[in-house]
Amino acid sequence: MPGAPKFNPALSAVPASGIRRIANAAEARRERGLPVYAFHLGEPGFDTPEPIKQATLQALQAGQVHYAPNAGIPELRTAIADDLNRRYRANLEAGSVLVTVGACEALALSLLGVLEPGQEVIVPTPCWPNYLHLPRLAGAEVVEVPTRPEEGFRLQVSQLEGLISPRTRAIVINSPNNPTGAMLGAEELRALLELAREHGVWLISDEIYQDFSYTRPHVSVLEVCQPDDPVILVGGFSKTYAMTGWRLGYLVTHPSYANVLLKLHQYLVTSASHFPQWGALRALSLRDEPKAMAEAYRLRRERVIRALERVGIQFVAPEGAFYVFARVPGGEGGDRFCERMLLEHGLGFVPGGVFGQGYEGWFRLCFAASAQEIEEGMVCLEAALGSPIKPPR
Ligand code: PLP
Repeated sequence: MPGAPKFNPALSAVPASGIRRIANAAEARRERGLPVYAFHLGEPGFDTPEPIKQATLQALQAGQVHYAPNAGIPELRTAIADDLNRRYRANLEAGSVLVTVGACEALALSLLGVLEPGQEVIVPTPCWPNYLHLPRLAGAEVVEVPTRPEEGFRLQVSQLEGLISPRTRAIVINSPNNPTGAMLGAEELRALLELAREHGVWLISDEIYQDFSYTRPHVSVLEVCQPDDPVILVGGFSKTYAMTGWRLGYLVTHPSYANVLLKLHQYLVTSASHFPQWGALRALSLRDEPKAMAEAYRLRRERVIRALERVGIQFVAPEGAFYVFARVPGGEGGDRFCERMLLEHGLGFVPGGVFGQGYEGWFRLCFAASAQEIEEGMVCLEAALGSPIKPPR
């Protein structure tokens, strides 16, 4: 008798998404008719702007329903290059851009395209969990570099120096960061780039939250790098334009590197969906809608900060993105705390351990939910964790 069919052992070694686990528990609660404040998912509390939908419907009706060119429709690749050139005074051409199935695929292409079994990737933590688990699927090892709350969770580039070895293939950075909101400045980016050049390793920069910065302007790796630097920029439409369900993103790198990663993209997905790319093209011409959404997140951030301060929870005020990383009160573990908050109060948070080793006593709160959900959820949080501070008489 043959045994049970086998999976790739690398797949058994990685956990199912910890964020999805909470999402499923929250969904089950909702199905029972109980309220849920969805602060666990990085899901914009806005609908996709109407002009994007209209342009997509037109493309659909005009018959753009067949395979798109592998690397994306030329119009969108050019528009992405132009958009980044405008933002960052870069000098990109369409040949540098690959349109992907969300930033998720752009990141997967970058990591699976450069990593081999036995090689290493350096990942500052806490971080978006895909950086930790995708490399393991490629048989590579992840070297976690913990950032510290007392330094605002900002990466100290000196922390990396002793960690780069001949086995290092890539460094992954994410600014503004999920889950801390920490950002990298031009000086840190230059230093990282210098390290990458010196050691011949890739610098993979995920800038999907480029439009959400609250305390200082976002700086892109594109502002400090040269065209042939070992840099891959990852970006997308999900967050800026409230298009998470559209599954469109992109990567940007030197055209000769893009052509290598294109092979992986071809064998994985052939191309991103065709007609939605026309909607994404329209998205890039919008200015007012994304700005209004970013402004709304600024106000929601303030409301959340106020609530956390009132109940005396320790946290680092996020510089960007739409998350707060906060310490679990009372020394309770993050897993237990998040489970309890969901079951007892309907508050959806993600336990910190999901974002890297050593953050088990933390949790992540996303403030992208609708204004009403934020307000009601913060009132619930204040009631659950302590009485609000009375205004001075
Ligand atoms: N990168 C980061 C840092 C994220 O937080 C997310 C989603 O939460 C993604 C990439 C994935 O984005 P997309 O929806 O474009 O695949």
